[in-house]
Amino acid sequence: MDYFEPKSLDEALSLLAKHGHEAKVIAGGTDVMVDIKYKEEPGCLVNIKKISGLGGIQENGGSLRIGSLATIRDVETSSLVRDKLPVLWESAHQFASLQIRNTATIGGNICRASPSGETLAPLLVLEAKGKLAFSEGEKTEPFMSFFQGPGKTSLGTKGLLTEIDVPFPAEGSRGVYLKHAVRGAMDIAMVGVAVLITPDAARNTLQDVRIGLGAVAPTPIRASKTEALLRGKSLTVALLKEAAAMAAAESSPISDQRSSGEYRRWIVEALTRRGLEQTWKAATGKEVA
Ligand SMILES: Cc1cc2nc3c(=O)[nH]c(=O)nc-3n(C[C@H](O)[C@H](O)[C@H](O)COP(=O)(O)OP(=O)(O)OC[C@H]3O[C@@H](n4cnc5c(N)ncnc54)[C@H](O)[C@@H]3O)c2cc1C
Repeated sequence: MDYFEPKSLDEALSLLAKHGHEAKVIAGGTDVMVDIKYKEEPGCLVNIKKISGLGGIQENGGSLRIGSLATIRDVETSSLVRDKLPVLWESAHQFASLQIRNTATIGGNICRASPSGETLAPLLVLEAKGKLAFSEGEKTEPFMSFFQGPGKTSLGTKGLLTEIDVPFPAEGSRGVYLKHAVRGAMDIAMVGVAVLITPDAARNTLQDVRIGLGAVAPTPIRASKTEALLRGKSLTVALLKEAAAMAAAESSPISDQRSSGEYRRWIVEALTRRGLEQTWKAATGKEVA
């Protein structure tokens, strides 16, 4: 296996263009090294950790720019993320062990494109975008269209994710990320649910509702029918029940060694109900009536 440590983005992109599907990008290596040990060895490894300018977390007008090499621990310890994007902060906080959070990058979590990737449902509800670099040029793409299947993204084999742009939610919004796993944070999510709501000015109805579901479809998804059902309404006990059941119906989980599909659906329903209840109370100061 060949090994490269490019010092610039251009050098990395040329290596990817030259080696095509033989090449594998490595950032923190927490997924790649496990794959090399238990699955297959790539023809060459392109380590992007020495490329400057791909890390850091900065405010950029109405959004946060997160470099793809920012570690999960960088995200977790960023006061900007904690203050402005609590739904993303919660996913970093509930991510594996401290050792893994210190090594794993947000870019690796996104590019792995595992349906259970912890940061993905939060990034979908925040309507974040990725900056993608190819040897032919750059483009910005919303994560809503970036994920194409388990392990598949619109980067293909020749692109690099360089940064993530996360717009700040509207004033008064409240968000939560709820993870269900057998061993809590130490385990990959069996189900992850991100909820972000914005009440109207009088705090009586849901002006905007976004629900992201992880680990229950081939890609992370938005529960768009459930969002449409809730938008413009006041959250009542009956509506909450209907919405949670609808979110479960929008999921299409598989059965695997972690859980049956049926159980996952039931968890989607429970976490959606809890996420909506919590955010409604936090945003309006009212109980669900
Ligand atoms: C013990 C353990 C516990 C874990 N727990 C969790 C958990 O709780 N939640 C969770 O979501 N994940 C978990 N993971 C999975 C893993 O840690 C994450 O997916 C992590 O974010 C991957 O980041 P990385 O930098 O290590 O990626 P790498 O392993 O370096 O790369 C991951 C994939 O992304 C590609 N890639 C990386 N960076 C880029 C880039 N900038 N541009 C293009 N492609 C890129 C690589 O080619 C590879 O396909 C766990 C893993 C282990 C080993």
